[in-house]
Amino acid sequence: MDKMIAQFSDIYVQYLRLVLHVLVASGCTESKKSPSPSVIVIGGGFAGIAAANALHEASFQVVVLESRDRIGGRVHTNYSFGFPVDMGASWLHGVCEENPLAPLIGRLGLPLYRTSGDNSVLYDHDLESYALFDTDGKQVPPEVVTKVGEAFESILAETDKVRQENSEDMSILKAFLIVMERRPDLRQEGLAHNVLQWYLCRMEGWFAADADTISLKSWDQEELLPGGHGLMVRGYRPVINTLAKGLDIRLGHRVTKITRRYNGVKVTVEDGRIFVADAAVIAVPLGVMKAKHIEFEPKLPEWKEAAIADLGIGIENKAILSLFTCLLAVLPSTLRRCLIKKPLILLLHS
Ligand SMILES: Cc1cc2nc3c(=O)[nH]c(=O)nc-3n(C[C@H](O)[C@H](O)[C@H](O)COP(=O)(O)OP(=O)(O)OC[C@H]3O[C@@H](n4cnc5c(N)ncnc54)[C@H](O)[C@@H]3O)c2cc1C
Repeated sequence: MDKMIAQFSDIYVQYLRLVLHVLVASGCTESKKSPSPSVIVIGGGFAGIAAANALHEASFQVVVLESRDRIGGRVHTNYSFGFPVDMGASWLHGVCEENPLAPLIGRLGLPLYRTSGDNSVLYDHDLESYALFDTDGKQVPPEVVTKVGEAFESILAETDKVRQENSEDMSILKAFLIVMERRPDLRQEGLAHNVLQWYLCRMEGWFAADADTISLKSWDQEELLPGGHGLMVRGYRPVINTLAKGLDIRLGHRVTKITRRYNGVKVTVEDGRIFVADAAVIAVPLGVMKAKHIEFEPKLPEWKEAAIADLGIGIENKAILSLFTCLLAVLPSTLRRCLIKKPLILLLHS
């Protein structure tokens, strides 16, 4: 009996050695040996960096593989104007404790410019400050903008009825057309018609999607955190840099393949390098998954592939124009001095 126990413990020790060997070998890269569990995070955007930060805090061995030469992904602060301009995300939506970024932003002492308040000086951000021009460059009377805005709200309210009547989903555009058939009083003519189109375009801009692809059932299902909106005056860069501090981040590492093995994952990078770990967190954009830029072995489950294929994505870009130089040339000197203190930036979303 004692012999059996001895033999059993011997096998057990060998088994433990084997497990330990696998774990050691799987410490994120072949060269790095670590007894603690290891994770490869793919994608160094906010999601990937935040996940890596949490894992690192919990004593996991973490390596972040990022394809570009910088972290941040769709968060990218540009300093070339001499002050920070966020080319991607710039607002904190929901300035409240429930928002995991808010306490961090507070701790870093980063100022937020409240754009949901009455004293906002961001033009064209809310309806009250819109100055709309027609194609001939003439300003559309503000009362027309307001009146058509009310009609637009009524149309949206009517589309809700269409939603209640239909169990099948349809596009918001189709629902609009149904409403227009039923409620001729909401139809707009001439300039007002163009303004109505513009309202629809704003909606398309918000979703980065054409109206014939916006879901009637889901378009308003977003849950906003309380606390209003705050613009990151100094940009998002300090926030992502803080989260990234102390992390092992490999830039220029485009992942092409993820192989799941019985004892962990093997991740292949474009240039053929291989990383192994106990697990991987995939934080690349949906578009990368839809384009199948990363091969999975074995293949992802069918339900996951179907979800990736069915979800839509849109493209949203920002263009920043500094009117500083051209305005300096034409403005009187007093205004020039103001401009030096406060450069005028034109921010275009498309
Ligand atoms: C113009 C614009 C304005 C926006 N404004 C706001 C705003 O004001 N407020 C707000 O809350 N949100 C805003 N957003 C949305 C916000 O930026 C995103 O939701 C958020 O940044 C997404 O973060 P992510 O980490 O999920 O993805 P991403 O930031 O896209 O990060 C994914 C990372 O994965 C990397 N990657 C891709 N493929 C691979 C690969 N094969 N191998 C390795 N790495 C790979 C990419 O390079 C990227 O760094 C805006 C977005 C845009 C485009």
